[in-house]
Amino acid sequence: MSSVIEAIHLGGVNCYLFAAGDGCILVDTGFMAKRPKLEKSLESLGCTPGKLKLIVLTHGDSDHTGNADFLRNKYGCKIVMHGSDLGMVERGDMGWNRKAKPDKYSVIFRLIGFLAKAAAKKAEFEKFKPDLIVDEGFDLSPYGLEAKIVHIPGHSKGSIGVLTEDGKLCCGDFAYNVPGFQFIDDRDDQRKSLDKVKRLKIETLYPGHGKPFPMKVLLKRS
Ligand SMILES: [Zn+2]
Repeated sequence: MSSVIEAIHLGGVNCYLFAAGDGCILVDTGFMAKRPKLEKSLESLGCTPGKLKLIVLTHGDSDHTGNADFLRNKYGCKIVMHGSDLGMVERGDMGWNRKAKPDKYSVIFRLIGFLAKAAAKKAEFEKFKPDLIVDEGFDLSPYGLEAKIVHIPGHSKGSIGVLTEDGKLCCGDFAYNVPGFQFIDDRDDQRKSLDKVKRLKIETLYPGHGKPFPMKVLLKRS
């Protein structure tokens, strides 16, 4: 059976909503500032309170985790993430478990980093504890989605993807589809993750930034 996925675009950041049995599973949650738009989008897609079973966070950065705690309270669902990014959301520190200086980051990210630091002084990062710590192979089928978690560190130590049985990979910031976007915290991790992803049965990647793109584009790029 093919999986049903809807993209929710939140000002440069994508969240993805999967149909999961009689409910849904949300991958990532966008910035706090985009909360009203996210709430409206979820409602228009039929994801009303009681329907949302899980929120899977691809990693701990605030552009992906900004509404997780809010949605958990509103929908009564669980938040799932990898333990290696835990301190990022528990402490509100995106540098937690990362190198002092990332191995590779493009000019645009240096600028974003600078702006984020300035913004962080104004707005408090909403800290929270996830409900479920997951790792490679965690099975989402008990929640109604034929999919597994893949651990793909590189952007951060706890970066994960959601891989459906029919070859859709929600890959967070493992791969972008925006010209000039690049942020690799650890080049060795990234290379290993890339090797792993190449061996998996993937048709389409659904990135955290930019439009979905076919696996063959990733293979050509690397
Ligand atoms: Zn991001």
